[in-house]
Amino acid sequence: MKGESKLEKKQFRAESKRLLDLVINSIYTNREIFLRELISNASDAIDKIYYKTLTDENLVFNKDDYYIKVIPDKKERILKISDTGIGMTKEELEENLGIIAKSGSFAFKKEHEIKEGFDIIGQFGVGFYSAFMVADKVTVITKALGSDEAFKWESTGVDGYIIEPCEKDSVGTDIILKIKENTEEENFDEYLEEYRLKYIIKKYSDFIRYPIKMNVTKR
Ligand code: ADP
Ligand code: MG
Repeated sequence: MKGESKLEKKQFRAESKRLLDLVINSIYTNREIFLRELISNASDAIDKIYYKTLTDENLVFNKDDYYIKVIPDKKERILKISDTGIGMTKEELEENLGIIAKSGSFAFKKEHEIKEGFDIIGQFGVGFYSAFMVADKVTVITKALGSDEAFKWESTGVDGYIIEPCEKDSVGTDIILKIKENTEEENFDEYLEEYRLKYIIKKYSDFIRYPIKMNVTKR
């Protein structure tokens, strides 16, 4: 395979495209729920590694090794959500992030999409794609349990995504959000503010069983 072909932009499936459009162009005010969605995915990924350790005697679940980190970097306008969960293989990246996930709630409510679009986001969440409510570029760096290769998935929205090999030392996933610039109507800076992030985490993710750590990049 030629180096370039790896970078070929792939298209989202039609369903995903519709949802992405909805997410990106919505005048939706409750954008803060993106963090709930990403933290819940991180927690699910840690659950998966935990269950693996219960059935695989070669693995030990060392509680201290499993956590979620939320790392804002104001200067770079980057918000990173990292987990030490099970990670994704290249195929899983393709399968889980290239198409709208089985993320049932949405599929179930599909027929109401046009009429009640914005409510659906609020009531059911849109999972991973909700990242695009606050970010104009989303990068996923991930390494699956049992794999020695890491992969990067990247997308700026409806026009598709790329997947390419990359470096990552440990098993788990980093979701890297390039936070949107403020507009006249909307403030996105708040998603880089420590106090605001803490508030959102407390509000929606208080029940998460793994530690949620906050690293602040001081400059
Ligand atoms: P849902 O969580 O309802 O399945 P999402 O859109 O939130 O739907 O996520 C889609 C899928 O992407 C998940 O089911 C999971 O397989 C994968 N995924 C998302 N985030 C992570 C992560 N941090 N670690 C591992 N897998 C993830
Ligand atoms: Mg989810």
